[in-house]
Amino acid sequence: MNPGDTMATLAITDAVAREWEVLIVGAGPAGAFAAHALARHGLRVLLVDKAAFPRYKVCGACLNPRALAVLNAAGLGALAERCGAQPIKAFHAAIRGRDLTLAVPGGVALSREAFDAALIQAAIGAGAQLTAMQLRVCHPIELLDISYRRAGFYANNS
Ligand SMILES: Cc1cc2nc3c(=O)[nH]c(=O)nc-3n(C[C@H](O)[C@H](O)[C@H](O)COP(=O)(O)OP(=O)(O)OC[C@H]3O[C@@H](n4cnc5c(N)ncnc54)[C@H](O)[C@@H]3O)c2cc1C
Repeated sequence: MNPGDTMATLAITDAVAREWEVLIVGAGPAGAFAAHALARHGLRVLLVDKAAFPRYKVCGACLNPRALAVLNAAGLGALAERCGAQPIKAFHAAIRGRDLTLAVPGGVALSREAFDAALIQAAIGAGAQLTAMQLRVCHPIELLDISYRRAGFYANNS
């Protein structure tokens, strides 16, 4: 493992020696959520990120009710609360003596450091593996089609 890589479950040397059905580059919320969903369906999923987790992330770190509903539907309804999420009721902006308040009922604010790490942990709990590596695309490819069949996802660029 790389120094400081506290959440990685596999060293890159071990990861490349195995066969994977799904490789996900980027273990932010999108990648970790996808890894969780696919691993839950029994696919062999490798999640790769150049960062060591937990990691700091610049973000407003607010989840709206739709985001919370998506988490809930994926069986991750308790995750935000476990990360110390605080309810938010309104958004308030002020400039040069003028101000505006917008109601934002049902949302929460939390730490992205905690949230991203917890999502990765959920993916690992579902069977995904995490390794640290920076992947580079040398030749840009045009992805024409992506489909799902019983055995996995298929990307077509021809
Ligand atoms: C200032 C600011 C405030 C925001 N506030 C909010 C908010 O309040 N609420 C909200 O819902 N959204 C907010 N957003 C948007 C939110 O941060 C993004 O929508 C979210 O982070 C996207 O998640 P993601 O998983 O797609 O990408 P990311 O969270 O960016 O994760 C991508 C991951 O990919 C990894 N990666 C990138 N390139 C490589 C590579 N070549 N090899 C390996 N790994 C790689 C990175 O290390 C990273 O961990 C805000 C954004 C900003 C900038």
